[in-house]
Amino acid sequence: MRVLVSVLRRHDSTQGFCLGIEATADDFSVGVLDFEGKVLANVIDVFMPEAGGIHPREAARHHAEVAGEVVSKAFQQAGIAPKDVTIVAFSQGPGLGPCLRTGATAARALASYLNVPLVGVNHCVAHIEIGKLATGAKDPVTLYVSGGNSIVSAFDAGRYRVFGETLDIAVGNCLDVFARKAGLRQREGMPLGAIVEKLAGGGKMLLDLPYSVKGMDISFSGLLTATVRLLKSGEYRLEDLCYSLQEVAFSMLTEVTERALAHTEKREVLLTGGVGANKRLQAMLSTVAEEHSSRFCVVPKQYALDNGAMIAWTGILSYQSGVTTPLDRSYVRLKWRLEDVNALWVEG
Ligand code: AMP
Ligand code: MG
Repeated sequence: MRVLVSVLRRHDSTQGFCLGIEATADDFSVGVLDFEGKVLANVIDVFMPEAGGIHPREAARHHAEVAGEVVSKAFQQAGIAPKDVTIVAFSQGPGLGPCLRTGATAARALASYLNVPLVGVNHCVAHIEIGKLATGAKDPVTLYVSGGNSIVSAFDAGRYRVFGETLDIAVGNCLDVFARKAGLRQREGMPLGAIVEKLAGGGKMLLDLPYSVKGMDISFSGLLTATVRLLKSGEYRLEDLCYSLQEVAFSMLTEVTERALAHTEKREVLLTGGVGANKRLQAMLSTVAEEHSSRFCVVPKQYALDNGAMIAWTGILSYQSGVTTPLDRSYVRLKWRLEDVNALWVEG
């Protein structure tokens, strides 16, 4: 089996800056952090399709078009010059092939030009690490929920282990597809999930929808189909549909998170990823954490959606534990699983 990263000597340096590039799906983002974990820049440019969902090639074209400008803005925001960058990190996977490749190409070009090490980062690990950095959580059970992933995990024996996950679509995708079927449109600063959340606030009636937890895993596709069917019947208020969809989807996620918490007996619950911005989901998880005498931690909104800061921070952690990614091994990994990463920097 080929070794995917070269593990070199530990890099104990605490001085320098990491530039991180995120491009797994619809966001192209560049973050700059110092080695202490201070975020100096986090610029995000979201691709918004004219109609329908994210088309990978269209999103990749968007990323290529905005990459130069986003990198320049990040340098401006950080107040550093390109020569100050000591490492370049990029989201190596999992994600959409054309998007990942565009981000990786930009990262390789920058690292080569600046003659600094390149570090490939697992996107799911990055969502957990930015949550830990921002909230001070040390060893949480994490619920990571986004447009592409829904994973309950906790650290054990060198890796972030997956306790439960979606068997089909991600919860964010479920909300987004429903919203589009209802004719809702994403706006600047207002993702579809946030629009569903707003409408759900006006919901009064809990409709009967399928609740699907299988062992520790979850399925959202039946829930989506059933909610769309009720929508098409024209018999229900959109507010009630949004409210019911949220209640059922989030209860399923909360149940699995609670079981992982009971099993691991960890003392922290971390909510991260784009859907983590949802106040109703936060409330449900916070109740569960309280019942298990655990601290509830939620990633701040600016780091909830896909962002370059989380890639830069995880790049620093990897680099400091001796990991770099040579150019000839920097190919993108579309299905790179969370538990396949040796999280050498995590104690425990
Ligand atoms: P990410 O994949 O991490 O960039 O997250 C994007 C996903 O988060 C999309 O599916 C959005 O609709 C969803 N999202 C963003 N804000 C909210 C919110 N307030 N409530 C529910 N989902 C949200
Ligand atoms: Mg996104």
